[in-house]
Amino acid sequence: MSVTVLERGATEGGNGSARLSGGLLHVAWRPMDDPPDVLLRAIMSETDGEAGPALARALADSSREALEWFGLQGVDIRPKSAEVPYMKHAVHPHKPIGIGRRHMAERGPDQAVRLLYKAAAERGVAVVLSAVVNGLRRSGGGWTVGAEVLGEQRDFTADAVLLADGGFQNNPELLTRYVGPVADRAFLRASTASTGTGIRLALENGAGAVGLGRVYGHMVSSGAFENDMLWPYPPVDKLCLKGLIVDRRGRRVATRAENGVQLVNELIRHEDVRGLSVVFDDTLWETAGTDDPYGTPVPNPDLVDRGGPYLQADDPGGLAAASGWDGAELRASIAAHNEDTTTVKIAGRLHALRVVPGITLTMGGISTDEHARVLDPGGAPLRGLYAAGGCAGGIQGGPRGGYVGGLAVALVFGFRAGASIPADLDSAGSGAGHGGGDA
Ligand SMILES: Cc1cc2nc3c(=O)[nH]c(=O)nc-3n(C[C@H](O)[C@H](O)[C@H](O)COP(=O)(O)OP(=O)(O)OC[C@H]3O[C@@H](n4cnc5c(N)ncnc54)[C@H](O)[C@@H]3O)c2cc1C
Repeated sequence: MSVTVLERGATEGGNGSARLSGGLLHVAWRPMDDPPDVLLRAIMSETDGEAGPALARALADSSREALEWFGLQGVDIRPKSAEVPYMKHAVHPHKPIGIGRRHMAERGPDQAVRLLYKAAAERGVAVVLSAVVNGLRRSGGGWTVGAEVLGEQRDFTADAVLLADGGFQNNPELLTRYVGPVADRAFLRASTASTGTGIRLALENGAGAVGLGRVYGHMVSSGAFENDMLWPYPPVDKLCLKGLIVDRRGRRVATRAENGVQLVNELIRHEDVRGLSVVFDDTLWETAGTDDPYGTPVPNPDLVDRGGPYLQADDPGGLAAASGWDGAELRASIAAHNEDTTTVKIAGRLHALRVVPGITLTMGGISTDEHARVLDPGGAPLRGLYAAGGCAGGIQGGPRGGYVGGLAVALVFGFRAGASIPADLDSAGSGAGHGGGDA
């Protein structure tokens, strides 16, 4: 087939989150070469049954093959830890830490995506860089994709189009519409490239959407808005899960979250998403604050050393004064927290961090089937339109914010789309009218 990639980034490898990622290839925290039935159970358990059954089955069934294909492109995949299942496959050289949105050319995730671009170009794929896709319409038996390429608006025609723009985490309007009224005020813990073009264009052309309300992410220091050294690590999830979350006045924000992703999904709906802090004591600072078995930076001491906003005081009155909170409110909040039978009690010297939910990717998105074909709201495929990765929905989610992997999902459904497109076009007898069978 004749294939064209339209990529908004100006350099090979694009500008997506894959390049910034930690490069861990897992399906619902299991190695991608686990038996399909083990993976299927893990996906359904992680999402509390919310993952679409056909998508879950496809992810489980194709995972090993997609992983092998990835390796065959020359991507170096090695265990990052022999004991931890989700670290069995990681692109090498492993990325020990990240720093904001800075590309790390010497690390595996950056190298892997650039290598895919190179491998594609070697096989005759036309890669158009600095091409910001902004339109999609049916034309003839296929599609016309509009893109602004270096300031010039251009049209590309194709029999089939695969949307793969990563999601809508950097689209404030879609975040407030689908995730929560102030979700656009959360921290973007990802590439800025994913502005929801894919879902917008799919919906405009009659696609359905699924699971739009949830995001994958982690709690981060509010200092991350100004300081790249504070994200994506150290994450502050563990302190937030065990400590006391308060608002700008020191009032308790009670949560029931069991994990960081669930907590992000709860707090992203708080009316003052940028006004939150976590309060904890010496014991939590020495345990949850230092807890990381894999050598990634931790709040204590890395967050403080990197200049993250941090306060400490001998008692609630002192902490409230230093934080600009109401002392009586804070005392009442601590009392309520300690009376709650589900919490870890706070006592003695107090510490506080300003925190914010960070969005790594939107979990919901375009409705697709197991072949990555875009579906209309009634479940019928839109001929010649495909979606894979962060822009497609239906595989992540559930009440506890079930995450089944970002890279693996993109890899598997991109791989499946690649297998489906020629077969679908053949069976539809298409190709005529576009004089080249572009896809
Ligand atoms: C800090 C961080 C760490 C992570 N760590 C992991 C990890 O260890 N394991 C894991 O599984 N997942 C991880 N993820 C998540 C993972 O990176 C994503 O889920 C995955 O990259 C999604 O793949 P994608 O191809 O859908 O989107 P992306 O990788 O974001 O790629 C989308 C591409 O589309 C381009 N694009 C967007 N809009 C347009 C447009 N309008 N026109 C043209 N091009 C456009 C972008 O420039 C980009 O190149 C991490 C993410 C981050 C941010």
